[in-house]
Amino acid sequence: MLPLQQAYEVKHSLIEYLKATFRFKDKGVHDAFYNFITHPEEGIFNGPYMSLKLPFITAGGSDSAAIPLEIAPTFPPYHHQLQAFERLTTHDGHQPQSTLVTTGTSSGKTECFLYPILYYCHKHAGRKGIKVIILYPLNALATDQAKRLAEAIWNDDRLKGRITAGLFIGEGRDKKHFESQMGETHIIENRTAIVENPPDILLTNFKMLDYATQYPPKQTPMCITNIKHFLDENGNIAAGMNVSGRKMASFLAMIIDHSTAQQEEEMTDIDIRCNNRGCHGAILAEVNRSENTIYWGCTDCDHEGMISEWKGSKWDNSNR
Ligand SMILES: [Zn+2]
Repeated sequence: MLPLQQAYEVKHSLIEYLKATFRFKDKGVHDAFYNFITHPEEGIFNGPYMSLKLPFITAGGSDSAAIPLEIAPTFPPYHHQLQAFERLTTHDGHQPQSTLVTTGTSSGKTECFLYPILYYCHKHAGRKGIKVIILYPLNALATDQAKRLAEAIWNDDRLKGRITAGLFIGEGRDKKHFESQMGETHIIENRTAIVENPPDILLTNFKMLDYATQYPPKQTPMCITNIKHFLDENGNIAAGMNVSGRKMASFLAMIIDHSTAQQEEEMTDIDIRCNNRGCHGAILAEVNRSENTIYWGCTDCDHEGMISEWKGSKWDNSNR
């Protein structure tokens, strides 16, 4: 196929089509119309244009063998995907770095973060609670990616039945229409199911995330929290959170501070008051060193929780 010849043929078929569609009996009008649409500068045709886009670079043979993930793509990744995997991996105690990927359409930007998060969830599959939050500006984007996430989990025997993901975007109250289980092409969409049993991966938007932090629980559920979700890249409590989020983060930070200073392996009074409104109970906590979790609970009400990923945070006193 000769591109320039094709461009010429497309132009002429289109002119013929327009001439046949808009027929004028008056020859003068007909000619004026023809001259109007084919005018080299003011007419409807521009180009042909040539695109000099280069293909995305694939990671070299030996590079793709060196993907630092156990849950990894079966295809050889692009160079930029491998770079993203190296920055985002949690393999061998590597701390993921803040990463911005800007490449063209269909260059596999989703895979850049999808495999590192699936690997992270796989490594921590035994631990309850939300491990990853994926934020989307548009519900349509979240819905599209939910399907890809469902397929990635379903098609990997190490993940299928072990890793859950939920779509929390302001729909999904109706049990009949919104799935409450993982499937081949869908993730959990039922809002009640998501709140009652938080998935490993949560796909949501800013508004719903804000709403989720204030979700009024009927009975106080066990509050399973990854302290990193409340922090910015410098390890400080993220300034952009709403008031209830910041209050919760400060409360958890105080629990980490006091409990790691004492290092007790059984429930001990750590000199903090319960943050439930109207409750004057004391908070007891224990540090589980083998699992790196801190379990805490109130003496007077049923407020209780578990904190993970506190090691190395600003409030960790365990090495002091
Ligand atoms: Zn209490």
